[in-house]
Parts: sequence; C-alpha cells; structure tokens
Amino acid sequence: MLSYRHAFHAGNHADVLKHLIEIELLNYLGQKDKPYWYIDTHAGAGAYSLTEGYATKNAEFETGIARLWQRDDLPEAVRNYVDVVKRMNPDGELKFYPGSPWCAADVMPESDKLRLFELHPSDAQILQENFAGSGRRVQIQQANGFDGIKAVLPPPPRRALVLIDPPYEDKRDYHNVVTGLKEGLKRFATGVYAVWYPCLQRAEMKEMIPELKKLPAKSWLRAELHVQGPSTDGFGMHGSGMFILNAPWTLPQTLNETLPYLVQHLGLDAKASFILETGGDL
Ligand code: SAM
Repeated sequence: MLSYRHAFHAGNHADVLKHLIEIELLNYLGQKDKPYWYIDTHAGAGAYSLTEGYATKNAEFETGIARLWQRDDLPEAVRNYVDVVKRMNPDGELKFYPGSPWCAADVMPESDKLRLFELHPSDAQILQENFAGSGRRVQIQQANGFDGIKAVLPPPPRRALVLIDPPYEDKRDYHNVVTGLKEGLKRFATGVYAVWYPCLQRAEMKEMIPELKKLPAKSWLRAELHVQGPSTDGFGMHGSGMFILNAPWTLPQTLNETLPYLVQHLGLDAKASFILETGGDL
C-alpha cells in the first residue's frame, strides 16, 4: 500500500517549487514577533542523501536543485531556499537535500514548534533519527496526516502553516486533500494552508483545482511550474503546483518574479511554462 518513497525524487523540480514557497510562507509568518506552528501532514524522511541510496537511482535532483545551487543571479526567494540547502552542505558539495520538515526547522525561530506526521514506518523512523535531540520543539507521529489535521487544529498560538503533501499514488488523496482542508478551515479559518500536487493529465487532478477554489478561505493562490509540455501519451508528470489558502499579500508579486526564472533554468523543453492565479482577497 505505502510504496511511495520520497527519496527517489529528493531535490527535483517539484521539491524546488514546494520548498521555495514553504520557506517564503514561513519567513512571512516569522516577521511578526508572535509564535507560530508548522504542521506537516506528510513529512517524509526529513533529509536525504544525494550521493547514495534511492536519490541516486534517477538522480532527479540534477534537473532540480543542482541547476540552481551554484548560480549567483538568484531572485531573492530562490536564494533564501538555496541558502537552506547550502547550510546543509557546508563544505560546498551538494551531498544532502533538506525535506520539508528540515527546511522549516532551519528557517523557523528556535522557540516555534513543528508537528510532523508520516505514515510509512521506515520514513517515520528516519524522520525520528533526523530530529533526535530536538526536544519538545519537534513532535513526530507515525500516523495518518489527514487525521492529524483534526488532532492539532487549531494550534495553541492561533498562527500556523499547514503543509499537505501526499503522494497521490492512491487516488483517494485528491478527495482527502479537499475534505482535509474543509476540516482544517472549520477548526482554524485563519491558518495558512499549502497543498502540493502533481501536474498530470488525470481527471482527479483536473477536478481537484476547482474544488480547492471553492473552499471558504479568505483567499487562494495557485502556482504551477511546468518543466515541459504534457506528454503525448497522457502519462507522466510535466510539472507540479502549490495551492495556497490565506497566502500573504506579498506572495503573488514574489512568485511573479520567481516563476519565470524557474522556467528559464529548470525548463526541459520549449513548452516549459508557469501558471500564477489568485482569487478572493489576493
Ligand atoms: N513533504 C515531504 C518533503 O517535501 O520533504 C515529502 C513527502 S512525500 C511527497 C509524501 C509522504 O507521505 C511519503 O513519505 C509517504 O510515506 C507519506 N504518506 C503517505 N500517506 C500518508 C498519510 N495518509 N499520512 C501521513 N503520511 C503519509
């Protein structure tokens, strides 16, 4: 059932988009001198080796983080993200890649808390090891992250980013994302919610976006990075997207400056492109 292992994809174009936006959202929350939480419903292993194991199999990071890592013309949001990867690789060689919980722990103030859910027993175990010694700041549960939404919301500080990043290998994930967000908004209407999704020519995927736009949040933002044109046989992922509820007002402008740069440097063919749309108060 749980066959997905994120290590195969660590540092690819989809991770670049997701982690860059995650860091941007956390930095925004961190601007106020008030506590906040980071809740990750599908946390993965937390950190990945790029020199051994699964990540070396297809070396997806070579067309992701590796293309950006040494550049000196990065837009600010890309630089903030690349800086996290650089801090993880202090000897200047790209050997490790930070998962979403690691990115969060790096940029969040020490006093702010992380609540992480990961269902796969091996990844949950590695996640525990990667955050051993973090004390009460990081709480990890080997549990279903969609149930986790109900368990942790609203968070005590009444400020939080909730990242929802399922594998979508199980088609029910599309439905669970929408119902999870409905539950979340009921309990915690002012939270910032970020959902990652693959761009596929799949009916469930196409139906999910209009459902997300109808959710009762103050605003929404949809950002997609297509690294190539859709495949002619209809299979395969040509890009990925992030759908954000209650995003900061600064995010559309930031992404307007960032997405063309990502198309230019991560694009794989002439059909590489981006989508940036907003609704509600944004
Ligand atoms: N968020 C991670 C990152 O960016 O570094 C990557 C997460 S990966 C895309 C999805 C993870 O969700 C996998 O590690 C998988 O084992 C886990 N998973 C699958 N179904 C789950 C569920 N219902 N609850 C919690 N974790 C789940």
